[in-house]
Amino acid sequence: MTGIKKVAICGAGGTMGAGIAIVAARGGYETVCFDMSADALARQRAAADKFFGKSVDKGRMSAEDKEATMARMSDSTDLNELADCDLIIEAIFEDLGVKKELFGKLNEICKPETIFASNTSTLSITEIAGGSGRDDKVVGMHFCLPAQVMKLIEMSRGINTSDETFSTAWAWTESCKQIPVETQDKPGFILNALLVPFNNDVIRAIEAGLCTPEDLDIAIKSGLGYKMGPCTLLDLIGLDTQVRLGEAFYPITLDKRAAVPPLCRRMVAAGRLGNKSGSGLLTGLTSEKATEAPGYAIVGTGESRSFPAGDAFLSGGAEGAPVTIHLGGGFAPDDSKTAVLVELDTECLGVHTGEDLGREGSNAVGFARYRNGNDAPSNLIELVKQPNTDPQALAAARAVFEVAGFDVVVCADQPGRIIDRLVRPKYNDALRFLDEGLATAEDMDKTCCMGLGYPDGPLERVQRGGLGRHYDVTTALQEMSGQPGYAPARAAVVAKARG
Ligand code: NAD
Repeated sequence: MTGIKKVAICGAGGTMGAGIAIVAARGGYETVCFDMSADALARQRAAADKFFGKSVDKGRMSAEDKEATMARMSDSTDLNELADCDLIIEAIFEDLGVKKELFGKLNEICKPETIFASNTSTLSITEIAGGSGRDDKVVGMHFCLPAQVMKLIEMSRGINTSDETFSTAWAWTESCKQIPVETQDKPGFILNALLVPFNNDVIRAIEAGLCTPEDLDIAIKSGLGYKMGPCTLLDLIGLDTQVRLGEAFYPITLDKRAAVPPLCRRMVAAGRLGNKSGSGLLTGLTSEKATEAPGYAIVGTGESRSFPAGDAFLSGGAEGAPVTIHLGGGFAPDDSKTAVLVELDTECLGVHTGEDLGREGSNAVGFARYRNGNDAPSNLIELVKQPNTDPQALAAARAVFEVAGFDVVVCADQPGRIIDRLVRPKYNDALRFLDEGLATAEDMDKTCCMGLGYPDGPLERVQRGGLGRHYDVTTALQEMSGQPGYAPARAAVVAKARG
């Protein structure tokens, strides 16, 4: 029992508020939908009606339940009508002054026991509570978009939030069949703290000419099993939103990875915001998959972790074929071949080719098949080219792997290729957040799986892949790139030291 009967949603005419109002009314609560815009409220009422209509069509709700739920929702543009609410959830503009002002006004109007919750993504709950006159009754309640569909809620306490407030708000979310996780009042809580720098890294990788946005998405989906590629996600949330998030994060965290990448600003200036403006990072370019491939010969020398003994690909080779494949880092130039493929670990292709940037028409192509620890090797092949790589050699390499059924992407000879470049700093962040007590390992992983559709959380994955291996990869990346984000997290240093 929470003692909460009547709830108000401030900003119910907006994207998040409209969804939260649906959650509250569906949970059985009398729900006041408050916004300064009556038009927005009318639009969202029609949208709620449509949403519940679909639930009825799908058999998730009876027509009577729909009518009763809609009847529990009332619209208001008069703050005074919130006076007798037990819980008020604000989802108004992301502006500290505006949110503090709203809570200050509500403090004058509402009962002393009313709890105020904020859906802020980036602001501090303690700072917002500072304007409320009841900072023990203010709590962070961060829903995911779309709130009416996503179950996860990140719950956080301000410094002065009372245990009673927190547990009552927590119980209320559970009564609405949501799934709360506890996190600290820190910028971005769990989800955005991991996502904002990661998405910036993605934009910087594209800006650095690492690969196309299309190939980046294929790599992340195929290699890591994410449901949605990061460029698709960025186009969906909007590059203007990413600018705003970076602008909110960087001054607080001073994390260089949180700073807005120049390309992101240029895209916004050019009106390429993503789906909402009709064009964004993804250009719609797709390459036809090869249906025929030249023969290949495995002339490999070293041991390959990614093509363990018995792997079907190893048996497909034919001696004397036009493409030769060196496994485990071996390499011998052979100009008589269409392509000479070199399997890479953390090193760059240039290590093998001697950085022959001036040499015309090198037929050497690097490749790596992504594998996390002792998991089964993924289906992803990252092909690595240098500025002088012969396009014919690259096409032959692509065809060999595509015809064998792999997902093939092409990237420049830059540290970490696509997967390690992007995922290793995120693992470092997650390990560091765990040290700092941001949340439990279980809650951090759960948040990523539920909020972002990852098949497993970053902590589970980095541990499965081996913290010692994480140390080796990040140390190599830091040496090559000089970027502090690659400095191995404490847990990886400890694991390495302990062998
Ligand atoms: P939005 O612009 O879609 O909606 C904001 C709504 O608040 C508008 O309808 C506006 O009329 C209303 N509003 C603004 N000031 C008001 C005031 N003083 N009184 C009454 N109504 C007011 O914004 P949004 O994307 O829904 O974001 C709202 C909040 O939710 C922000 O704090 C944001 O950080 C957070 N959030 C957003 C997302 C997301 O993906 N959009 C996800 C989680 C949290």
